[in-house]
Amino acid sequence: MRPLHEIKRDLVRVCRHIDARQFVAGRDGNVSVRISDSTVLITPAGIRKGDVEVDDLILVDRGGRLVDGRGQPSSETGMHLRIYDARPEIRAVAHAHPPVATGFAAAGIALSECVLPEVIVGLGQVPLARYATPGTAALAETLDPVVRNHDAFLLQNHGAVAVGSDVLEAYQRLETVEHSARILLVARLLGGADPLTPAQVEDLIAARARYGVREGLAGCETATPPAATADEEIVARVTERVLAELRTQARGG
Ligand SMILES: [Zn+2]
Repeated sequence: MRPLHEIKRDLVRVCRHIDARQFVAGRDGNVSVRISDSTVLITPAGIRKGDVEVDDLILVDRGGRLVDGRGQPSSETGMHLRIYDARPEIRAVAHAHPPVATGFAAAGIALSECVLPEVIVGLGQVPLARYATPGTAALAETLDPVVRNHDAFLLQNHGAVAVGSDVLEAYQRLETVEHSARILLVARLLGGADPLTPAQVEDLIAARARYGVREGLAGCETATPPAATADEEIVARVTERVLAELRTQARGG
């Protein structure tokens, strides 16, 4: 475990990055680090990320109760605590509203296609957690289906969340989410991204061990050829019988 003052310094650095890259507006967004099994350091409510100082950070227990600090913890503290409960091995959570990734979330589109190698290796995919009111227990609950097998995800009509072994890693994943959303948006404007083949994706997944990617991280969604619908099957069978009948008649006639 690194000294507390270094962890606090990194957390403030990440707040500055989030502000500088316009991943939030005003006081939005929140970042936390699990300091011990029983305590979490989190950004305060009501202060712009660009203005957060080391002394503004709030220490809460795993029930969200104030342990140390002079302000109020983030309104999304419950979401952060829920993620730490589900993923005891991670140490940091970063949440923001990066505009392009949040645009995908508002359009109800997950970043799940197999398009970009570094995303397939490092994140697998960025799924979409269904909408719930920000700052409520319901929002924390919507994360349950996605949080175990993914290190970054979109919150429908809201924003993006990334987790990591430290706060810089969680932030870098948030940056990857926004960067890949920008690329995928351009690809869509140019007629649609061309996904990698299942074999190409398999090679990338096999390379994960070399990059130290954890086991159990979900893959991306490779395109499978569309299965024939029941209607198409009926049409094919009828056509076959009609042709056979015509051939019989031609031979007979
Ligand atoms: Zn938010």
